[in-house]
Amino acid sequence: MKKISVIIPAYNEEEVLPQLVERLNTVSETISQYEFEFLFVNDGSSDRTLELLRELNQQDQRMQYVDLSRNYGKETAMLAGFDHVTGDGVVIIDADLQHPPEVMQEMISWWEQGYEDVYAVRKKREGETFLKVLTSKLYYKLVQKMTPEKVFPQAGDFRLLDKKCVVALRQLRESERYTKGMYGWIGFKKKEISYYAEERAAGVTKWKWSKLFKLAMDGVTSYSTVPLKIWSYIGFIISFLAFIFLAVEITKTLLFGTNAAGYPTLLAAILFLGGIQLISLGVIGEYLGRVFVETKGRPPYFTRESSIENEQKTTDEIEVTPTDKSVDEKNEKDESLL
Ligand code: UDP
Ligand code: MG
Repeated sequence: MKKISVIIPAYNEEEVLPQLVERLNTVSETISQYEFEFLFVNDGSSDRTLELLRELNQQDQRMQYVDLSRNYGKETAMLAGFDHVTGDGVVIIDADLQHPPEVMQEMISWWEQGYEDVYAVRKKREGETFLKVLTSKLYYKLVQKMTPEKVFPQAGDFRLLDKKCVVALRQLRESERYTKGMYGWIGFKKKEISYYAEERAAGVTKWKWSKLFKLAMDGVTSYSTVPLKIWSYIGFIISFLAFIFLAVEITKTLLFGTNAAGYPTLLAAILFLGGIQLISLGVIGEYLGRVFVETKGRPPYFTRESSIENEQKTTDEIEVTPTDKSVDEKNEKDESLL
């Protein structure tokens, strides 16, 4: 029997959890020819999410959880999920039911036909503001233009990954993560399906505009060096135009004289170039910051507790420290020598 693991990152989702679990249960009953594992990653929730997850685990052994030591963000929570799942196929799904679990059935059938990454593209965004839809459209267009790998527009994290993809993703351990770009980067055989996005079932969205901006920046700067290079071209073009402008002005002054009206143009030029310089400094800073974070080589996350059995075993093993044993043996030997 093949096993399907479902990764559910959850940050303050106590309100939707009961509904979600009900839906997951019904779906797993209809797709009964597979064994299921539901792995909730509690991303440092400050509400009762963890307590609920513990209860769920008590009632149903298929419901597992990993509790992260603080809020790391969805990208890192997903990595924690990849690290702990054991299934042959792995589905990632939002806790708020915006990703209807019923779509899994279709995903699985494509997976059975040999596709290794079946991703769902949303057809309509219910309950999302016009501005959010517009900005995300523009953003994906931009990313597409700048990155060598294909980031599939509108395709989120709602997808089924074959075990091979998960093993690959586990090895990409940068802390400033942009998983949407990674799916493209790792390759494997992809299949697009579509679904209708629903409104968040309960609770509030954890996205802030600042977060969205950060994700957008991460997306561009972790997959492309275009922003780093583009400024030299722009600088060259501007300098060239400025040179021509200067030549024209000099000729004009020599031929017709001047009425000393250079002040506004001068100011405009200075401010314009100043702005460009600040932007390019910012871009360099963005990359430098990334290098700084990655060179520290910190583990991307820490777990506080987990319901997964073999993990508990490994921590038990650590408690019976083998070094202590060998020290005891050594002491015994030393005593016998005496
Ligand atoms: N999430 C998370 N950590 C965070 C923010 C969000 O694990 O810091 C989870 C959240 O619980 C949900 C998913 O990521 O399962 C998507 O979040 P949300 O619905 O708030 O985002 P939106 O759908 O509005 O983009
Ligand atoms: Mg949501």
